[in-house]
Amino acid sequence: MSRIAYVNGQYVPHAHAMIGIEDRGYQFADGVYEVCEVRGGRLVDERRHMARLDRSLSELRIGHPMSPAALGMVMRETIRRNRVRDGIVYLQVTRGEMKRDFPFPPEGTRPSIVVTSRSHNNARNEKAAEAGIAVVTMPDIRWQRVDIKSVALLPNVLAKQQAREQGAKEAWLVDGEGRVTEGASSNAWIVTRDGVLVTRPLQTGILPGITRSVVLDLIAREGLGFEERPFTVQEAYEAREAFVTSASQLVMPVVQIDGRPVGNGAPGLVASALRRDYHSQAEFI
Ligand code: PMP
Repeated sequence: MSRIAYVNGQYVPHAHAMIGIEDRGYQFADGVYEVCEVRGGRLVDERRHMARLDRSLSELRIGHPMSPAALGMVMRETIRRNRVRDGIVYLQVTRGEMKRDFPFPPEGTRPSIVVTSRSHNNARNEKAAEAGIAVVTMPDIRWQRVDIKSVALLPNVLAKQQAREQGAKEAWLVDGEGRVTEGASSNAWIVTRDGVLVTRPLQTGILPGITRSVVLDLIAREGLGFEERPFTVQEAYEAREAFVTSASQLVMPVVQIDGRPVGNGAPGLVASALRRDYHSQAEFI
């Protein structure tokens, strides 16, 4: 079955989808994106993702390509045309196409929008979660506005590649004080030996993950012990459990950090329970 992409007002075969070479996303990484989970053919946590998209756009002063209602329809239509039941929908908005020049293009330049969707292999994801993943730590060399979900992901690309070359699935980025900021494409969590969940606060060099926010609601609902504070790499080595969160991986147990086993080296009970219960807290509309 051929894949379909939505590009600036049209549904086109994925293989023939095109954006101009003067698009500012291509020239300057001048754009933002979102990745939403699709489950049972439905969008998960659309409202939170759209709120974050709004914020990313307004922080960069990029206009809206279309109304939120129209965008919701385009995302659903893209999911439908690609026959995705379980997977993700990806959307990217850039400042549009204009002769290459650093300052913003003139008022009225239309932002570009691309929406794609693809299926996940659920069985493979569940198997990965049952095994857990390895992470390696490395310095966080990103810019100071990582709270914006910008397509400028070169440091993340390099980190992820380094992780892969070291046999790990994810990189944990570390600030100048030896504290974990987040993963290259996920938020980072530990469970201390006392059973307290710990994750880094917003406004301290992380992306406000949507999965993170849903997990926080789940933790509050279940009355679990929780501290929102930075944690060091050393604390992570000594943790009982560790995991990462993202829309594509949900809650993914971490069983090894820098080659050392976390806890007993198997996915932890807390992480596994949060993964199991995640969708009872997520919003489907
Ligand atoms: N941090 C970074 C750097 C990411 O790229 C992502 C995933 N896009 C996340 C955290 C997790 O965010 P979310 O739960 O919204 O997917």
